[in-house]
Amino acid sequence: MLTSLKKLRTTITSPNVPLEKRITYAMVLCAMLGEFFGFVESFLLHLSIQAILLPLISFFFLLLLYFWGIKTKHIKIFSLLGISIIGLVIFPLMFFANAGLQAGMPYYFLLAFVCTALALRGKSRIIIYALLVIVYTTLFFVYRYFPQIFIPMTAEDAFIDQIFSLLIAGSILFIFSYTVSRQNAHDRRTIKELSLLYERQANTDELTGLYNRRYFNHFLKLAILTLGDTGKLHVAMFDIDNFKSVNDKYGHPFGDTVLKRFANILSKRESIGATVCRYGGEEFFILLPKKDKEEAINIVEGILEETRSTIDLPEDKFITVSAGFITCTEEMSFEKLLQLVDKNLYTAKASGKDKVIY
Ligand code: GH3
Ligand code: MG
Ligand code: MG
Repeated sequence: MLTSLKKLRTTITSPNVPLEKRITYAMVLCAMLGEFFGFVESFLLHLSIQAILLPLISFFFLLLLYFWGIKTKHIKIFSLLGISIIGLVIFPLMFFANAGLQAGMPYYFLLAFVCTALALRGKSRIIIYALLVIVYTTLFFVYRYFPQIFIPMTAEDAFIDQIFSLLIAGSILFIFSYTVSRQNAHDRRTIKELSLLYERQANTDELTGLYNRRYFNHFLKLAILTLGDTGKLHVAMFDIDNFKSVNDKYGHPFGDTVLKRFANILSKRESIGATVCRYGGEEFFILLPKKDKEEAINIVEGILEETRSTIDLPEDKFITVSAGFITCTEEMSFEKLLQLVDKNLYTAKASGKDKVIY
């Protein structure tokens, strides 16, 4: 009993449980409590035996339904069954037992509409909604023309019943609306977190964690557009020397480690305002804004120096890298810039590697 109560609490309050399931459980629980208090109220007000027995029988029936609902994995059937039984059977019976329009049952009818909208989906939502409209309208007509078939209440009891029903149905509707608005806020947060994650994944190279080609191209185009005539935008393209033979000799995983170590050397330059990326394979880029040309060349030379002195190979050798360097001018297009930097890199390779050409 205690575990099923705990399970019920987690089901109703957890935003990770589908809203339909939460609302159905909440509705069955509320109806169960409502029937129980309805029984106590009818008993204390000394209402007719039908008005006392009906909520009691409904209470036990809902209890059974609730336990079946916990066991079953068919939430759709449970929602459909729960809401149909409560809205189309129990509420109409209570309408007869509780003096029809004289007392407070119509307030509960509104609850059935709200639950149908929140807990059912597709065709079943439309069908149950239509049935509720038909049944409740019929009940209103029946009360208007055949009031004698309803179990009566004194005016005083009906007034008390109206106040209780209003407060109970109002509180339940309030809790449902609050639940939906909290669920919305939770869903919005999840969507935001996911879109940030996907955006990051879309812009990042998986192996090195650096920006990828896509992001860098975008960033570089923007940097060119906002360059003005300062002339302070420098770009260098790096290509690891003889990398194919490193892979062939020491294996692909070792090659991956080299790529990560070189990426690490580059990313240290981010602290001085550089943007770095893995452009593809063993080719990398650095973008250096707001620096004089000499300073920028020194930074690139520094990267080459750090590579040849730290990324060691077995047999006491070291990895080297070649670079093409270019300073972007105002009239230079993105394509032209890439073409020139690639040309300089080619010259660096053709003239012995392990150097920067600018
Ligand atoms: P060069 O000095 O002229 O640049 O010679 P190279 O051998 O470095 O040039 P090449 O472009 O022929 O070789 C690049 C190699 O990079 C080939 C490819 O197998 C390797 N490569 C590309 N991406 C990866 C990767 O993600 N991991 C590893 N381990 N190797 C990669
Ligand atoms: Mg290459
Ligand atoms: Mg290479």
